[in-house]
Amino acid sequence: MNVPLLDLKAQYAPIRDEVRKVMDEVCDAQYFILGPKVEQFEKNVAEYCGVKHAVGASSGTDALLMAMMALDIGAGDAVITSTYTFFATAGSIARLGATPIFVDIDPVSFNIDPEQVRAVLANPPENVKGMNIKAIVPVHLYGQMADMDSLLEIASEFGVSVIEDAAQAIGAEYPSKDGVRRAGAMGDMGCFSFFPSKNLGGFGDGGMVVTNDDALADKLRKLRNHGMAPKYYHQFVGGNFRLDALQAVVLDVKLKYLDEWHAARRDNAAVYNKAFAGSSVETPATIYADTAAVNYHIYNQYIIRVEDRDAVRDRLLANDIGCDIYYPVPMHLQECFSDLGYKLGDFPISEQAANETLALPIYPELTDDMQEYVAGVVKAER
Ligand SMILES: *Cc1c(COP(=O)(O)O)cnc(C)c1O
Repeated sequence: MNVPLLDLKAQYAPIRDEVRKVMDEVCDAQYFILGPKVEQFEKNVAEYCGVKHAVGASSGTDALLMAMMALDIGAGDAVITSTYTFFATAGSIARLGATPIFVDIDPVSFNIDPEQVRAVLANPPENVKGMNIKAIVPVHLYGQMADMDSLLEIASEFGVSVIEDAAQAIGAEYPSKDGVRRAGAMGDMGCFSFFPSKNLGGFGDGGMVVTNDDALADKLRKLRNHGMAPKYYHQFVGGNFRLDALQAVVLDVKLKYLDEWHAARRDNAAVYNKAFAGSSVETPATIYADTAAVNYHIYNQYIIRVEDRDAVRDRLLANDIGCDIYYPVPMHLQECFSDLGYKLGDFPISEQAANETLALPIYPELTDDMQEYVAGVVKAER
C-alpha cells in the first residue's frame, strides 16, 4: 500500500468546484495584488484567531521579517529563539543583521524552554554582550503552542517583545491564565505561513502577521508595500511582502474547513496513539489537555520518537510510506551560523530530538487501513 506523507489532491477533490469559482472571479476582475479579496481574507483570519488586525504577507518567512522590521530589529540587536525549528525563524533574524541567541527545548513538548530564555536574558552569552536583546520568538512547533504564559511573564520582566512563529499552528489553542487563546493572539505579533503543507495551505506561497496593536498593524501594512503611504511617499524602507488575491480567495475557502480538518487530524492522532500504546514508540504528548473533547494540538505534524529512528525511516520508505525528519540539524549546528560559536553538545535536548524524531502521515483524508499499515511497519521487529 502507498501512503504518502501528505495528499493534497485528496483535500482538493471535494472543494474543487468551490475553489475554481472564486479563482475565476479574481481572473475576471483582474485585480491580483492586495485589494478587497485580500482584505476579506484578513478580516476572516483576524476573527478566527481572536485578534484585532491581520496583515497578509507573501510568505511565512516574509511575515517573520515584517514583524521584526516593525520592531526596528537590526544590526546591534539580538533575538532569542529555539534552536529546534525550521530555518526561517533564525534566518529572518540574521537577514536583518541581528544576532540569533539560541536556546534549547523542553524534551516533552519540543517547544522553547522558558527557563532557558530567562537564563540568557539574565546572563547573555559572550557574543551578544553590549547588544540590545529586543525579542523572543517562540515557535509553536508541529502545531502545539509553546508555554506562552511563562514566556510573556519573562518578556515583560525583561522588557522585550514576543513574536510568535505560529507558521505550523494556525488554530492551535492554549489555556492561558486569561482563558483559552489561539496561536498568534498572545504575543505582540503572531506570524503564519500558508505554504501548501501547512494545515491552511495556499496554491503557492503566502503568510500573515496578526496583532492587537493598532500602531504595529499600521506599520506592518506600510512595511509590506515598501514603507509607502500615501502612494510614492516612503516613510521608511520596507519591501514587497504583499499577498496575492488568488491566494487569498483559495485560502478563504479553505479557512471554512480548517476546524474540520484539524478535528480529522486529531482523530488520526488518537488512532496512532492507540496503535503505539505499550510499544517503545513514544507518541506526541498533548501538553495542555488530553481528552477526546479538548485537544489544543492541530497536528501539523504527528511526531514519534524512536531510538532507532533512521532504521524506522528506511523501513517506512521501503514499504512505500512517506515520512520525514523535522529537523535533522538544529540551528546552532548549521554551517551558516558557525560564526556564532556554538558547538555540538551545547543544546543536548534538541540534538537528541534531531536524532530520534520522525513525522508520520497525519493528513485528514488518511484512512484507518492506511494508519494500521503505517503503525504495523513502524512497530515491525520491535
Ligand atoms: C513553514 C515555516 C516557516 C516559513 O514559512 P514559509 O511560508 O515557507 O516562508 C517559518 N517557521 C516555521 C516554524 C515554519 O514551519
